[in-house]
Amino acid sequence: MVALLGHRRAAAVAVDIAAFQQLMAETYGERDRARGLPSAIAWLAEEVGELAQAVRKGDRAQQLHELGDVLAWLASIAHQLDLGLDDAAQRYAGGCPRCGNRPCTC
Ligand SMILES: [Zn+2]
Repeated sequence: MVALLGHRRAAAVAVDIAAFQQLMAETYGERDRARGLPSAIAWLAEEVGELAQAVRKGDRAQQLHELGDVLAWLASIAHQLDLGLDDAAQRYAGGCPRCGNRPCTC
């Protein structure tokens, strides 16, 4: 039962992430591809910095805002690489990729 719930939850997350990536591709894909991967990587790094600042001294609304921006740039980079964030998330779908446990025991 626990495994089934875990599997269903993992599947739901995968669908949501793929849908988000598709939404970002429809919204910004053409412009992001024109700017290229180096630009997207630079923007991701900048947004990670802003997230770090929001975690340190921002409120919950600012933290949520920056989490969204980081996710958006991750989606852009995945799209430009023709890779899926849902496929990337599969690495952790079974718990820790090294020991396979939840919580990790390694
Ligand atoms: Zn582990």
